[in-house]
Amino acid sequence: MHLKIITHDKIIFDDEVSEIYTKGVDGEFGVLKGHIPIISALDIGVTKVIQNGECKAFTTMGGVFQFKNEEATILTDTAESGSDIDVTRAKLAKERAEARLAEKTADIDIKRAEAALARALARLKVAMVQSQK
Ligand code: ATP
Repeated sequence: MHLKIITHDKIIFDDEVSEIYTKGVDGEFGVLKGHIPIISALDIGVTKVIQNGECKAFTTMGGVFQFKNEEATILTDTAESGSDIDVTRAKLAKERAEARLAEKTADIDIKRAEAALARALARLKVAMVQSQK
């Protein structure tokens, strides 16, 4: 089957894969060859694919997953491969978000801080997969 990961300004991935695992708003799910058509809203998280027996990981920050006729498409606001990720920047973003969430003052936008934390954790996960190669 084929997978395209597309953002507003870039094609992050466009190739044949044998397995796709991603994070929908209702939880993680996987798609193998022959899966029935599916459309799902994506959460902030990690999309993993198996290609020639090797695992590749990408951040996928929300958006939509569609699968039909052996063609999968992820349309997302932001996506990165492991080699795109600046680990120091992601660690600093994680610390900032954690500090905001720990403040627990009334003027904290909790949803925004939680989303920033989820993006940073997804980036660190993808960078870890990349570093294991
Ligand atoms: P930060 O607070 O570090 O800017 P963020 O989660 O607010 O992180 P986003 O709004 O998700 O950043 O992304 C803005 C742009 O910066 C996107 O193009 C994204 O790919 C890029 N980006 C964000 N963090 C990183 C990172 N750690 N490594 C590489 N690119 C990043």
